[in-house]
Amino acid sequence: MSVSYRDAMRAALLYGLLSVLWLFLTDHLLNSFLDDSAQLAHWQRVNSYVWVGVSAGLIFLARARLFSFLGMGARLRRQRLDQERLRQAAVVFDCTREGVLVSDHNGVIVHVNPALVKITGYAPEEVLGQRPNMFKSGHHGPEFYQAVFESLEKTGEWHGEIWNRRKSGEIYPQWQTIRAVRDSKDQITHYVAVFSDISAIKNTQSELMRLAHHDPLTDLPNRLLFTDRAEQALAYAQRHKSGCALLMIDLDHFKIINDSMGHNVGDLLLKAVGERLTAVFGKGFTVARLGGDEFAVLVENCTQVAQAAGFAQQVLEVMKGAFIIETHQLFISASVGISLYPNDALNAEQLLRNADSALFKAKSAGREGYALYTEELTAHAQYRIEVASDLRRALEQQELRVYFQPVHDLTTSRMVGVEALVRWQHPQRGLVAPGEFIPIAERTGLIAEIDAWVLEQACWQMCQWQAAGVDLSFVAVNISSRLFARPELYQLVSTVLADTGLNPALLELEVTESAVMDNSEVALEQMHRLRELGLRLAIDDFGTGFSSLLRLKRLPVQKLKIDQGFVAGLPGDDDDVAIVRAVIALAQSMGMQVHAEGIEYVEQAQFLLDHHCDLGQGYWFGRPMPARDLDWQRAPAIRP
Ligand code: C2E
Ligand code: MG
Ligand code: MG
Repeated sequence: MSVSYRDAMRAALLYGLLSVLWLFLTDHLLNSFLDDSAQLAHWQRVNSYVWVGVSAGLIFLARARLFSFLGMGARLRRQRLDQERLRQAAVVFDCTREGVLVSDHNGVIVHVNPALVKITGYAPEEVLGQRPNMFKSGHHGPEFYQAVFESLEKTGEWHGEIWNRRKSGEIYPQWQTIRAVRDSKDQITHYVAVFSDISAIKNTQSELMRLAHHDPLTDLPNRLLFTDRAEQALAYAQRHKSGCALLMIDLDHFKIINDSMGHNVGDLLLKAVGERLTAVFGKGFTVARLGGDEFAVLVENCTQVAQAAGFAQQVLEVMKGAFIIETHQLFISASVGISLYPNDALNAEQLLRNADSALFKAKSAGREGYALYTEELTAHAQYRIEVASDLRRALEQQELRVYFQPVHDLTTSRMVGVEALVRWQHPQRGLVAPGEFIPIAERTGLIAEIDAWVLEQACWQMCQWQAAGVDLSFVAVNISSRLFARPELYQLVSTVLADTGLNPALLELEVTESAVMDNSEVALEQMHRLRELGLRLAIDDFGTGFSSLLRLKRLPVQKLKIDQGFVAGLPGDDDDVAIVRAVIALAQSMGMQVHAEGIEYVEQAQFLLDHHCDLGQGYWFGRPMPARDLDWQRAPAIRP
């Protein structure tokens, strides 16, 4: 528009100048050649007609030029510009590194560029006429695609990360922008998707993340990642009312190796230590290098002090073997500091700090050892660890003994059975009660061996009594809840019965209430299978668990043993009286025998007899003792 305006102005100026020049020249010429005024007036008129004619011609010409400028010129110029733009767009379309895909309003692909071919691996003819879902990777659910379509509907655009599949099958991330193209009637005619392959960026990102969170020498998590994991573990433990332990490990006298053998050997040793720790702890643990010669292990789901101490012991053990570094054979020990959540600390930072103080304690105590943050815990844990390893030896050296405690019929006072109770004849500590080692054996898994051994001994002994004509109706053997849920138990019992030849009806297995109730379906099946062998089952320490009466009714159990805790309060404590009476009534209503343990006084026996309890066991009748000491004839009278 500005061009035609300028032309019009130029034409007007030219026309003005020409007219002034024309009038000046013609007037001057006429004045100088003609003296006659009539002639002059005539020629001046002629001159004005000529001028009007010339002016009309000029105006016509100027108009014609102007119109051609305004119409043809602008159109041609626009066409030229459009062509230029199209040419540029085509170059961009072909040369861009981003893949471009154009689909019609039905989603049918109508156009793709060479970059798309390169990124996806598909030739244009394999893509054209298809739909974009041919690239789907299965990485996103239907709701993802729903959101894309909704955004296109509402805003006409979507952009974001999307995982697609190449022709080779490889899944890769794209950054994609999709735009809906609308016509003059606002109807969608096409969709244009432009995307770039961001797998390289992603790889770089993850590599950067790895570098930021890992120690480059050992490739173990560094302090940053370790603290983060510890925080997560604590949060999880808090939610699930569980615990976790942090073991901080420091190599003893590492500096000497580093200084004397060089940093290269030192580095290789650190790497080897990292590998050893990772091999020991494996999944479910986080092993990290916090810096220098300091490592750490995060133990999730660790609620027991002894368990954490056991892991520390494992660290010390694993360090004992020689490290072969280049041509050197190196030995190095470690010290371990342990801190526990929630006992010692409530957040990750505090847990690390406390483990560090515990480590300092371990170092001061002479290295190659471990220490817990709390001193009493250290002593306690050390004791438990010692007992566990001692117990292994005890089994090998046959230091365990089986004692038998008499069980009497309350009505007749006659001894009718015995309960087998294990003892440990310790070379230094003398006779150790099961309460001191059974829980440790349960945690270390040794309980299976102990129970198997006691069962075998008890069955042999019962066979011998039978052969000697001793009239006993049962020998009771305790089975740990750890063992009770395991399928090997059935095998064990049937083998022992077969080996000893004991009549199964003379064997009674005692299981605690919690063992039966915690995993009731498995326990129920186990009980039915054991019953098929012909033996009897009793629930020990009844009243201490939370038995559901409904479940109790389903159990193939012949006896309830009232826990000694309730018997202790008889006959004075009203609560104990009420509980004992209720248990007796319950057992009788279910057709079970009822057996009271822990009877220390005649009054207790009397009360139980008065309330129709069937059997009694306790110091008043007789303590647990070796088989040879049992007095079969003893029948203490309950009534004076
Ligand atoms: P339990 O099966 O309830 O055994 C009864 C416990 O009460 C025995 O303790 C016994 O000595 C004690 N006791 C008996 N009469 C009296 C009494 O009048 N007063 C008092 N205060 N105590 C009495 P013990 O032998 O120390 O055994 C403790 C627990 O250890 C047993 O409780 C049982 O749960 C477990 N246990 C013993 N031997 C074995 C075994 O071979 N295997 C397994 N898994 N556990 C065993
Ligand atoms: Mg028992
Ligand atoms: Mg008991």
